[in-house]
Amino acid sequence: MIIAGGFLALPGVDTPVRADITISEGIISAISVPDRSVGVSADPHGGHETINADGMLVLPGGVDPHVHFDDPGYTDREDFLHGTSAAASGGITTVIDMPCTSIPPVTSAANLQTKLEVVSKEAVIDFGFYGGVSGQVFEAGARRSMEELAPDVLGFKTYFISGMQTFNRVTHTQFSRVLEIAAGLHRPVLLHAEDFDSIAGSAKAGRSGGNRPIDYYHSRPEDTEILAVRNAAELAAAAWGGGAPPVSPPLHIVHVSTGRAAQIIGSSPFVTGETGPQYLAFTLEDFEDIGSPLKVTPPPRPAPNNEQLWSALANGTLGFVASDHAPAPAAQKHTGSIWTDYGGIPGTGTLLPYLFSEGYSADRFGLSRLVELTSSAAARRYGLDHRKGSLQVGMDGDCVLIDPDAEWTVKGSEFLSKGTITPFDGMTLTGKVTRTIVRGRVVYDAEHGITTDAGSGVFLRRGPR
Ligand SMILES: [Zn+2]
Repeated sequence: MIIAGGFLALPGVDTPVRADITISEGIISAISVPDRSVGVSADPHGGHETINADGMLVLPGGVDPHVHFDDPGYTDREDFLHGTSAAASGGITTVIDMPCTSIPPVTSAANLQTKLEVVSKEAVIDFGFYGGVSGQVFEAGARRSMEELAPDVLGFKTYFISGMQTFNRVTHTQFSRVLEIAAGLHRPVLLHAEDFDSIAGSAKAGRSGGNRPIDYYHSRPEDTEILAVRNAAELAAAAWGGGAPPVSPPLHIVHVSTGRAAQIIGSSPFVTGETGPQYLAFTLEDFEDIGSPLKVTPPPRPAPNNEQLWSALANGTLGFVASDHAPAPAAQKHTGSIWTDYGGIPGTGTLLPYLFSEGYSADRFGLSRLVELTSSAAARRYGLDHRKGSLQVGMDGDCVLIDPDAEWTVKGSEFLSKGTITPFDGMTLTGKVTRTIVRGRVVYDAEHGITTDAGSGVFLRRGPR
């Protein structure tokens, strides 16, 4: 395949470069300036499918390193076919799926195989897994299950607080142990950071208030995240012991929602962090207006947390963005009480378009930072950067073509996800994904939708192809 005449976002360069990309057997084999034919034959288009990218920005395919595709087990909410299709429609070419929201959870090698057999027949883009370390795993012996999972997972996910029956939280003592074992296995530990004890206290106050969004918010205020992040950072430092700081930090905090937590993460060599569009686009006031379609955990925060998170993304305090895609059908999203409404939103399809529009087009950061935040940094963090996350010869031919000036309006009813209830409904964004390409194959185009077969996505492990 040749992607001809587009303006490329090359690593570390803020000005798009007009060049052709040649993809052979799924891998980028040449990047050449038109009419100069560097690295291509005299008949550069001979024998290759040519994609006309005139006027398009071409970015490396997005990496969404935090999705809940719920498959197998909770497929009334989402499955891998719909989840990966939604991702492709938003320019994502790689997702990493969480271990906790499927049955069985990915807490052993046998469970992982069960899941892999099901989802590999469905995926339309490439995908990796995290392993899970729950309270239940500890009862059965954490080391053995982590060791057997390690070759097939990109990290280990833990919770300080959990509402899931099949995936309990870990205590601080258990968490320290997970950090030690994971460091030996060269995998990061991912943490849902909200403090268990302080939420146990504040939940009472929240519930006695009523069942409005503000009451739910009061059950999980900012301090519960800040305390958990501070504790986790201390435990990560203690588990590391002395000596030079790690090349790859042992701990990663998912869905950071407060400016203060971002600051703590930025000041520790042991911790990295991600945030998501829901915490950038919306505040507590919006939660009071929008209600359940914006119910996420942790809850939306009062301003100026959102602006502080934008700054943290721009200046490198937070490493990348992720969607935390976790949809649910209307019956679960609207139960009549904010306490029982499902917490989670479909987000993988709007992740890159939102960052493109409100980050890059709105001038909060440049093109190279956009690419870092939506692709390169997550690929590096999870050991996929030998094939994912940048437009360079030798990398997988994963690209997204974006019409940079096209405006469009988000409509949940048009999502390819099973989940269509989104707080982004009605939002107008600048920059439209026109094509998504995975290993030299068009998987999505704006006219025809998904253009590839279920099962064409491949399972990604750390290390060589
Ligand atoms: Zn999540």
